[in-house]
Amino acid sequence: MASPFRFSLPLALGLAAIGLGAQAPTHHGIDPANLDTSVKPCQDFYHFANGGWLKSHTLPADKAMLGSFTEVMDRNREILKQILDETSAKRTWPKGSVQQKVGDFFASGMDEKAIEKRGLAPMKPIFATIDGLKYTKELPAVLAKLHNEGIPGGFGFYVGPDDKDSNRNLGAFHQGGLGLPDRDYYLNNDARTKDIRSKYVAHVAKMFELAGDPAGLAEARARVVLDLETKMAKAAWSRVELRDPQKTYNKMSLAKLGQEAPGFDWALYFKDRGVKLGDLNVGQPSYATAFAKLATDTPAIEWRTYLRWHALHDAASVLPKAFGAENFAFYGKVLSGTPEQETRWKRVEGMEDGVLGEALGQLYVKVAFPPESKQRMLQLVANLRSALHDRILALDWMSEATKLQAIHKLDAFTVKIGYPDKWKTYPFDVKRNDYFGNVLRASSYQVHHNLAKLGKPVDRTEWGMTPPTVNAYYNPSMNEIVFPAGILQPPFFDPKADDAVNYGAIGWVIGHEMTHGFDDQGRQFDAQGNLKNWWTPADIKAYQARTDLMVKQFDAYEPLKGQHVNGRLTLGENIADLGGMKIAYAAFMKSLNGKEPAKIDGFTAEQRFFLGAATIWRTLIRDAAASVRLKVDPHSPAQFRVNGPMSDLPEFYQAWGCKPGCPMRRPKAERPAIW
Ligand SMILES: [Zn+2]
Repeated sequence: MASPFRFSLPLALGLAAIGLGAQAPTHHGIDPANLDTSVKPCQDFYHFANGGWLKSHTLPADKAMLGSFTEVMDRNREILKQILDETSAKRTWPKGSVQQKVGDFFASGMDEKAIEKRGLAPMKPIFATIDGLKYTKELPAVLAKLHNEGIPGGFGFYVGPDDKDSNRNLGAFHQGGLGLPDRDYYLNNDARTKDIRSKYVAHVAKMFELAGDPAGLAEARARVVLDLETKMAKAAWSRVELRDPQKTYNKMSLAKLGQEAPGFDWALYFKDRGVKLGDLNVGQPSYATAFAKLATDTPAIEWRTYLRWHALHDAASVLPKAFGAENFAFYGKVLSGTPEQETRWKRVEGMEDGVLGEALGQLYVKVAFPPESKQRMLQLVANLRSALHDRILALDWMSEATKLQAIHKLDAFTVKIGYPDKWKTYPFDVKRNDYFGNVLRASSYQVHHNLAKLGKPVDRTEWGMTPPTVNAYYNPSMNEIVFPAGILQPPFFDPKADDAVNYGAIGWVIGHEMTHGFDDQGRQFDAQGNLKNWWTPADIKAYQARTDLMVKQFDAYEPLKGQHVNGRLTLGENIADLGGMKIAYAAFMKSLNGKEPAKIDGFTAEQRFFLGAATIWRTLIRDAAASVRLKVDPHSPAQFRVNGPMSDLPEFYQAWGCKPGCPMRRPKAERPAIW
């Protein structure tokens, strides 16, 4: 359960800290050209700080969004491309070496001729497994076989730390099985959703046609898929419910699951997956019950259709061009509004980050991560930790007893920077002429590697993101904050920029991740990463009174006409944004030691802190993509991640001289003053 600063999607990319990137920034700190001084900072700080940049940029045809994150990603992709070109050009690497795997994987993905020539042949064994499902009672065995190869359907099962015993691994059942991004797309009946739904059916039909079905049959089968997925969607929990760690903690024996969710032979399913289960966590018991009932009530022919769709969908990017193009036509064009698909090498590189991430990452950090960056980051983290320590002690609403526990938790934070101490190995064959097979072997390995954790202690050295990733996360079970090398570069972190800007940008990112340890989810975990209450009832009440104000504040934001931010879904991130900014500012003030730095370009150091913070969220995004994010993303849209927390902070009003009544100065009674 990681809580990334930005989004949960794995995004490959990294760092040009030693000037490797072709488009490395020439300006350090705040570039006045990026401002729009016709907007008043106390009216709308996001547009004041970023208006110049927003006007001088346009969305490229192959992007759903453009901003600081994607700029850094693009710079790093060029570095990764160079690594991939060089390693794949040489065919004499020792077999099984990191370079051989990295190079041959890339070569196999770029060999479009070979992929076209093979056509659908690599899918045959998978289709044979699915076609072997003659009676509904065979569903557990067929699903187990597919799940063991990493092919999704119906629900998921993963091994991870037991929320209430964080040193022990526990298997967990999760709801799943949908082809659209959220249950809402099946259940809502507004015009946009209905349009997406009908285009989804057309897309599923097109995929069946590409796989050889006659048009009429393909269309009928697509309707079967929608009907079955709609039944799953009705039983699925909402994203707000999924954020509740107590509700989603339901440890039970396998026998108990059988009683609670009759109709699906769970014991057989787990036996076929090759795992011995004493107990497991059933994340969404009512979904398990509904799924098991569906398993019996749905004819085998419908299950075959549904599974065939998910197998095709899952494999679309490694099949011949027509499948990937059709996949993009729906998920890229219709859902995100993006006109053009990314170029081939970027897609292969993204796949490689997903399946061989730490092999590629090893080569990446060698050229792109200077050790000095780690030292600077460790210092910044120490300063932020000390600032949060001070803030906790100064809180007027928290009891001494809870404060002691909070400090204890803060002191216990583990910090990971750059890349793992121990690299993951990838003990499977990577062949130069077999893209499909490479990805299938990788995905099957990932599944088995995960299942093999059962019964073993939790490995605390593992990372949840790859080194080139432009992101960061807090992991409550390990009580750790993690910053991949990929995010440690301009405009997030620039050793050549003034401190104010760095504290506003990367300082805010660090503070954000630290605050996740105390957000509405994170606060429910203790210093050892166990889901265990350490708050007094009065403190919980005081905390929730403040977070309720924050829910109200964000519920009111309306980025698209008629579509509001979901204050409950985004609560954890909004708490982290506000707390992170408050702590980063306090740490910056402490670092000044009473001295006032000279103005730069007419801005005080305090003002430049906020300009640095706003810079990281400058974003152009297509309306369609923004609409999907409002439903699925626990992060608020960019402009509210800037104006939301800033309008809550007295430090901001002071720096910019905002008077009562200014939009960027919320009335005191409405401010969620948590930290
Ligand atoms: Zn976050």
